[in-house]
Amino acid sequence: MTAAGKQAQQPEQQSQASCADARWSAVLRRDPDADGEFVYGVKTTGVYCRPSCPSRAARPENVDFFNTAQEAQRAGFRPCKRCRPDQASAGTQQRAKIAALCRMIDAAPQLPTLAELAASAGLSRYHLHRVFKQFTGLTPHQYAKARQARRLRDALDQADTITDAFNDAGYGSSGRFYAESTQVLGMTPGLYRAAGANMQIQFAVGDCSLGAVLVAQSELGICAILLGDDPNALLQDLQQRFSRARLVPGDAAYMQRVALVAGFVDHPASGLDLPLDIRGTAFQQRVWLALRDIPPGQTLSYAELAERIGSPKAVRAVAGACAANALAVAIPCHRVVRSDGGLSGYRWGIERKQALLHSEHESLPEPPAVK
Ligand SMILES: [Zn+2]
Repeated sequence: MTAAGKQAQQPEQQSQASCADARWSAVLRRDPDADGEFVYGVKTTGVYCRPSCPSRAARPENVDFFNTAQEAQRAGFRPCKRCRPDQASAGTQQRAKIAALCRMIDAAPQLPTLAELAASAGLSRYHLHRVFKQFTGLTPHQYAKARQARRLRDALDQADTITDAFNDAGYGSSGRFYAESTQVLGMTPGLYRAAGANMQIQFAVGDCSLGAVLVAQSELGICAILLGDDPNALLQDLQQRFSRARLVPGDAAYMQRVALVAGFVDHPASGLDLPLDIRGTAFQQRVWLALRDIPPGQTLSYAELAERIGSPKAVRAVAGACAANALAVAIPCHRVVRSDGGLSGYRWGIERKQALLHSEHESLPEPPAVK
């Protein structure tokens, strides 16, 4: 029995059923987006078509819908010679090719060249560029860069250490990892992690003898002590330093901690008995650790500090690390002065540096009397 001869329903019923079917309106619109979703058979001709077929429209009472070409063939229909519903559409084929290229880029340790991608897809380079952009909205290069950035971020967010991160991200050497993350993320891996991915930070502003003091704390400890006159400016500074963290205003209990830190800023020699969360690059951490070894009331020059960390030529970088310090007084960058003893700069104002050094000097125990 041919499909055309199959008359299970009255023509009128069949017509109503077809017209009520959303697939029929796709056929009337010759909607190319519906290609691959279904095919329709025309009982009077025994031929089946894809929705976008340019042939003359069939009458609704003569149409049967099928999910696949195979189903239409099993029902006795032949494929139309114009729209070739038994073959994948050009759009579907291209989409599959681009999807395969995306998987190839995802899996490649290094970005394949445009020529390699074009050869793999069997397209010209020009054509590949155009089709890739049409389906993904990106050039192959942009796509690869975005994937790489995603991989780096995931690795840095999830790994415990930067060494773990570059192993997890499939980098053979730390050199390439550092170079690429600096290029792709716009900052070194150390700074990226310092910005506080997936971190919650509590903060509050209190008063001390030097003005306003903002104290911020992560799960690991105090991560920022910022000094200034304007609480809003301090909060902006905090947001910039921890651009990827979630900042939460501290509650009443937290204000007690702020008071403790304010007391410490007023009397640095008393020490701060709170855990610190020190975030920065490996080099910055070395400088900051060396700063914490300078006792209250004493000073060091930038050159001496550079010498102490074993990088005597890195005086400028040492000065930069001092300026990047987020933990005023707790990491005593105020104890670093110019080689001639001059005060030089201070992140939180030269007057505050002067006041801190003065009060530390005053609070030193009297030297034993010499007979
Ligand atoms: Zn057709």
